[in-house]
Amino acid sequence: MSPPVRRIVTYDEIPHSVDVVVVGAGMAGISAALSLASRGTSVAVIEKGIVSGEQSCRNWGWCRQQNRDPRELPLAQLALRIWRDLNRQTGEETGFRETGLVYASNKAADIATWEKWGRIAQEFGVDTRMLSSAEAKEKLPGNSRSWLGGVYSPTDGRAEPELAVAALAKAAMAAGATIVQNCAVRSFETSAGRISGVVTERGLIRCQAVLVAGGAWSGMLLRHHGVKFLQASVKSTSFYTKAAEAVTEGGIFTPDVTLRRRLDGGYTIGLSGQGQLQITPWGLLQAKAFWRTFQIRRKGLTYSIGRSFFDGPESMAKWRADSVSPFERIRILDPEPDPHLLAKGVRKLQEYYPALTGITVAQSWGGIVDSTPDAIPVISPVQSRPGLFITSGFSGHGFGIGPGAGQLAADLIRGDGPSVDPKPFRYERMIDGTDLGKPGML
Ligand SMILES: Cc1cc2nc3c(=O)[nH]c(=O)nc-3n(C[C@H](O)[C@H](O)[C@H](O)COP(=O)(O)OP(=O)(O)OC[C@H]3O[C@@H](n4cnc5c(N)ncnc54)[C@H](O)[C@@H]3O)c2cc1C
Repeated sequence: MSPPVRRIVTYDEIPHSVDVVVVGAGMAGISAALSLASRGTSVAVIEKGIVSGEQSCRNWGWCRQQNRDPRELPLAQLALRIWRDLNRQTGEETGFRETGLVYASNKAADIATWEKWGRIAQEFGVDTRMLSSAEAKEKLPGNSRSWLGGVYSPTDGRAEPELAVAALAKAAMAAGATIVQNCAVRSFETSAGRISGVVTERGLIRCQAVLVAGGAWSGMLLRHHGVKFLQASVKSTSFYTKAAEAVTEGGIFTPDVTLRRRLDGGYTIGLSGQGQLQITPWGLLQAKAFWRTFQIRRKGLTYSIGRSFFDGPESMAKWRADSVSPFERIRILDPEPDPHLLAKGVRKLQEYYPALTGITVAQSWGGIVDSTPDAIPVISPVQSRPGLFITSGFSGHGFGIGPGAGQLAADLIRGDGPSVDPKPFRYERMIDGTDLGKPGML
């Protein structure tokens, strides 16, 4: 079942020629398009399904600095500065509210990790406050448990995945971007070694640059052109509830369950650290690169082999520019939610919050989280392919960081001074491995 998403009307016709074609209309692609169009660059976003139909409408809606990999912190801070003004800038409701986020745990290891992270975060000026057991109890009114401790980040917030990307897409079109839905990009064209166009299922668009923002599909499109992009996917299960008593206005993380208050008074619920690893041909081929991540996450994983083995983004599919591509066969990646995780989430929610007993699940869904081996994105040109850029591999963090990532991608494409240091996000780390660090905070 798909989560709710605000549908928007876009263009029917592809343009003949633009400066930049963006592949994919999720948070990464749309935020980059908005930033490009706002600076006068002509840009077309080509989306195989609908705007925000995949990960960007399936996430929990947390916009945070808290517990981010330090390499991502400047980008997260930039993103929050942008989020704070987005409702005004777009004239639309993105759902962003600076509510603060609370993390609580009974595991000494979690508290130690947060303490260590807090010392690093202070160097970046992030407001993060450790909570004693009593303070954690106080910060979580109505929660039936006692906690060893926690951490609170008052300047973090939450937004509505259902609304936010649609709001940015409308603003991008108002700034001059063309967005076309239901139209897959099949391949790129080059001329004298440079990107010169993209072939879509509706024809050719001439351009000087392509930005691959295809979420879980980016690796497949790049592999098709001989560009190695290490990317692994895990399925996660989430649901949202009908409006209920307010136990928080922001987001709460516990080791079992996360909850985030929605604009409509309900809650979006996730299962912390739990997911399903779908066994796929590419998954097996690149397993070595993801071994460290797997070791950290394996306790929360189950395994399956299904349709994704044969025709998902990690299958071995081959296609030609004049034939139907895998992107047209799966317009929207919409995996089934796991019923066991769903039942567990409802049980834990009511156990922690007795006031929510009898709460009604309005909708549940599965979502594919795509990750890089070091769990931070690639936002970068590909040096060996002039005109080719990537913004992908957001590793479960790309919604909150999205507006900042879009600005950085636009800086790099235009050759403007970068808003934050782009080095941690450079593509070539996947090839030379020199600064392919270990996964930080997963
Ligand atoms: C359950 C869950 C919870 C999460 N919680 C959070 C959270 O609380 N906070 C946070 O910051 N992040 C969170 N995330 C992560 C966040 O949702 C993603 O990092 C982010 O949405 C990625 O955006 P994207 O644009 O890269 O990918 P997507 O949103 O998946 O967009 C990619 C788009 O590209 C299109 N596409 C692909 N290939 C082609 C092609 N060849 N031609 C045309 N179109 C193509 C796809 O159809 C898709 O629409 C969560 C993710 C999940 C699944």
